[in-house]
Amino acid sequence: MGQFTLLRAPQVANDKLRAWDAADEYLINHVAEHYDAAGRVLLVNDTHGALATVLHARNPVSWGDSVNAFHAARGNRQRNLIDAPLTVVPSTDTPAGGFDLVLIKIPKTTALLEDQLARLRSLISTDTIIIGAGMVKHMQKSAFAAFEQLIGPVSTSLAVKKARLLFAQFDAELKVKPPPATVTYTDPDLGFALENLPNVFSRDRLDHGARFFMTQFSRLPDAHEVIDLGCGNGVLGIYLQTLQAESAVTYIDESFSAVASARRNHQRRFDASSESVPQARFVVENALDQQSDASADLILCNPPFHQQHVVGQQLATALFTDSKRVLRNGGQLWIVANRHLPYPQTLKWLFGHCTAIAGNDKFRILKVVKR
Ligand code: SAM
Repeated sequence: MGQFTLLRAPQVANDKLRAWDAADEYLINHVAEHYDAAGRVLLVNDTHGALATVLHARNPVSWGDSVNAFHAARGNRQRNLIDAPLTVVPSTDTPAGGFDLVLIKIPKTTALLEDQLARLRSLISTDTIIIGAGMVKHMQKSAFAAFEQLIGPVSTSLAVKKARLLFAQFDAELKVKPPPATVTYTDPDLGFALENLPNVFSRDRLDHGARFFMTQFSRLPDAHEVIDLGCGNGVLGIYLQTLQAESAVTYIDESFSAVASARRNHQRRFDASSESVPQARFVVENALDQQSDASADLILCNPPFHQQHVVGQQLATALFTDSKRVLRNGGQLWIVANRHLPYPQTLKWLFGHCTAIAGNDKFRILKVVKR
């Protein structure tokens, strides 16, 4: 297979985490031993591009929900002097079939897996080899059930370095009940509907932190250029624009399905109403990578605390650091966070101060002003 240098994306300071896991290694070794290089290969949820890099000679197509995963794959291929462009397909689209070998890193969210498997059916044949891979401790029963109910009979490998492979045989005759493409709810505190694609944070109900955050929105400053950072289904920005119709909000998330849901929810909330439609932009991107310095008056953020199965504060710290660059002087960053997280210290270190706006037994709302 050769030797490769692999890094994660986004790259954070002092990142000690590897860009691959034992499930990637197991999958790569298994493919090298058992399948020759012929045929079209589809990679699903290749989190840091390890598969797209090591299996580059098979010219794979990469399908997934994370723009950071695509950044990582492209970065790692470049780093290893692989010139061929990588074809990537966001989760909101379906790749053009058919495929001979499909390698699936089992995602944390079973709803995403179900949606992917249901759509995979039209891209494969009974000759297609379909292999799922994951760390044993993360492989939920619901993932096995999803393969059985949406693809066909399943068998599993022995565990190697605590990783396992899952082999699914496509049954073209299987009676399949496709999972719902979206889940919709209307929370009484909001008064408008939220329609969410698979993999969107708080897909089935409003997040408690977001709910608490919005109780304080009447205290937000009047702002023209606003960013809903890590927008998920867009709930924070849409609620703000309900209160401040003059604001222009940029909705940003690294998940394709999140940004598509935010766009859809913004349309649902405002397009049919008699009020004028507040200005909105929708961007799939890592953090504020595409935003100019000193361009925003207000940033709202309910920060992420994990990337797939990895929990940590580096992601939030990177978002706060970027916010400082993108805020104008006098601009404000407001966040909601679990009260056990040491974000006040991080924000004080970055901005020189931090004000607690409100708190309850679980959450704190924090504000900083760029000076
Ligand atoms: N704002 C929504 C809410 O309050 O319900 C979602 C908040 S959720 C805790 C955090 C969001 O940040 C997720 O939608 C996740 O996809 C997004 N996210 C994680 N890492 C990100 C990154 N590097 N850049 C942009 N968005 C990111």
